[in-house]
Parts: sequence; C-alpha cells; structure tokens
Amino acid sequence: MSEIRHNWTKEEILEIYNKPLMELLFEAAQIHRLHHDPNAVQVSTLLSIKTGGCSEDCGYCPQAARYHTDIEGNDLMPVQVVKAQALRAKASGSSRVCMGASWRNVKDGPEFDEVLEMVRTINKLDMEVCCTLGMVTENQAKRLAEAGLYAYNHNLDSSEEYYKEVISTRGYQDRLDTIGNVRKTNVTVCSGGIIGMGESIEDRAGMLVALSTLDPQPESTPINALVAVEGTPLEDQKPVEIWEMIRMVAATRIVMPETQVRLSAGRTQMSQEGQAMCFFAGANSIFAGDKLLTTPNPDVNEDMKLFQKLGLNPMKPFTKKVQPRTVESADSEFIAQGENPKWTRPEHKIDRNEEAKAKAKEIRAELKEK
Ligand code: SF4
Repeated sequence: MSEIRHNWTKEEILEIYNKPLMELLFEAAQIHRLHHDPNAVQVSTLLSIKTGGCSEDCGYCPQAARYHTDIEGNDLMPVQVVKAQALRAKASGSSRVCMGASWRNVKDGPEFDEVLEMVRTINKLDMEVCCTLGMVTENQAKRLAEAGLYAYNHNLDSSEEYYKEVISTRGYQDRLDTIGNVRKTNVTVCSGGIIGMGESIEDRAGMLVALSTLDPQPESTPINALVAVEGTPLEDQKPVEIWEMIRMVAATRIVMPETQVRLSAGRTQMSQEGQAMCFFAGANSIFAGDKLLTTPNPDVNEDMKLFQKLGLNPMKPFTKKVQPRTVESADSEFIAQGENPKWTRPEHKIDRNEEAKAKAKEIRAELKEK
C-alpha cells in the first residue's frame, strides 16, 4: 500500500499533473491497483429530489433561480416516488442513490423530515444512501447519520481562489465547515469539483491540495467536466479536452489513493476510449442514469455495454464500509433544533454572474409581454 499523505503541496501536485502522460497513467494505475480492485466500478444513481429555484449564484448551475435556463423545476419528491426510482436504479446495477436538493443549506422542518424518511427508506433497500443538500450543521448531520445515511456530498468545486470567481453567495470556509460537521458522524464524505470553468491548472492543483490535506481524505471524489448550459454565466466555456480529464483523474488517484474517484458530469462528451483511459487512470465510480440532476448523462444500458467490453463489474454496496443502522424517527436521539443558521454570504460582484442575471431579467420581461 502506498502511504496516505495529508501534506501535498501545490507544486508537487502540479509536477504530477504535468508529467508525460504515459508516466502519469502508469503511476496512477499502479497506485490504483494497490488500493482497489481495478475491475470493480461503483455505480451511483443521482436523483434530483428538488429541482430549480435555488437562491445561490453558482456560475455553472442551471438550477440557480436568478439565471434563465430551460430546466423544469419541481418541489420535493414524495418518498414513494423516491423509493420507486431507487428500486429501478438497484435493478439496473446501482449500489448507491445520491439525492440532490437545490437548497443553499438544510433547514429543520417538514421537508428535512421527509428527506430523513427517504434516507431510512433507501437504506432499508440495502443500497448506499448519499445526500447533497447544501450546508449542514452538526445536529443535522447527526440526524442524517441516525437515519442511515452512508455518504454526504459537498463539493469544494475549485481552488479557494477560483471559487470566488464562480460563486458569490457562499464562502469556501462554509464548505469546509460542512465537511467538518459531517466528519463528526460516521457518514462518509464525498467531495470533489468541476474542471473547465475557466480555472488554471494551478487552480486544479489547489483544489486537490484542499481535498487531499483533509484528514481523513474524502471517501469519494467526483471529478466533473463542466456542462456549459445556456443561460448560465459559464455558457460560453469550451468543453474540457479528454486529456485534461485523464490528467485530473490520475492526479486525484495519486494524491488520494484510497478515495473512490468518480466520473461525473460531462461523460456524454467523452468517448468510450476516453472513459476507458479514465478507468485505467484510477476512476472507479460513475454516475448512472440518463440525467445528472439536470444535465444529460449516458444511458445505463450503454454503461453496462461498456462495462462488458472492458471486463468491469459494478461494485456491490457496502464493499468499503458496513451498512449503517437506521434508527426510526420515534426512537431518535437527536431532536430538531429549529436550525436555520446564517451561513456567510460574501456577496462580492462577479461580472459574468451579474450579466447572466441581467439577461435573465430581460428575457423574463419579454416573455411577460408576449
Ligand atoms: S449548485 Fe446547488 S447551491 Fe449552487 S445554484 Fe445549483 S442547486 Fe443551488
């Protein structure tokens, strides 16, 4: 086993990222084999349980209410619908369901109680349950853990410096504090980011410094390639080249040997050969399903055909960690504290976010007139 280091520097990571590609691939593949079964890939299904209407200004996100995009919003999905979708995902080979809600942060109340019920329901289906609900307090994280949550996703998105160029409504430290709150429970941490937002390679390395110096390191790290959606501030970004994705996956694998590295958004733009190289470079998790929250994703059958061609097998649930126990709400040890904490709002101005917001206003005014 190679050593897990928590003191990676940006310079060291840049040196890894910029190695000749064949050397980078070889090193990453060797580390991958020391820590993981190279033929097992974990398959997650991402379910948008509440879509659109979000108060944040994340420059990459079509769910931000302030931008005009053509996504269809929906209120919180009923538990039975979530259960039916989870069963379908299980039947098609997924071992994990990740439920995403377009919230800035979790607020105690009936909607959070519903989400807790969804967690209990899916854990009882013997699937790993993950949630991505925005910032959470320690008590909220404990309530999720008690319901049987396996993982909590909270991405750092980019380096601390570049994060400020993409989002003005929440701070990087709040992200780290949320991860810290999750770490006070037995829930595993899923945290990664997005490439292709206009960041430099130094920013990519900076994000990997932030993730790899967490102790413990996240159990899973999604690497997303930006899907530039019309109407968002990043609509004009060029697609990420496959080589950049491969380098990012390999560098992530080398600095975080134990982590499940997940190919996430942007897979539809990748060829099968490109995806195969990412698996070789250490990616061992994918999101399945024809949609990733609101952006397109390869069809599950296509994924299974690719797995067959490459001799890959979907990983069984709870391979890395035992299944959490579910405590029923009536037996809960943690009561709702009526929490709606004031997380920070830096509110600095990001020109392209302001422009996209102004454009959305104009479009809405025009639509109203028609
Ligand atoms: S990424 Fe999440 S927090 Fe940001 S706008 Fe989209 S839904 Fe809201």
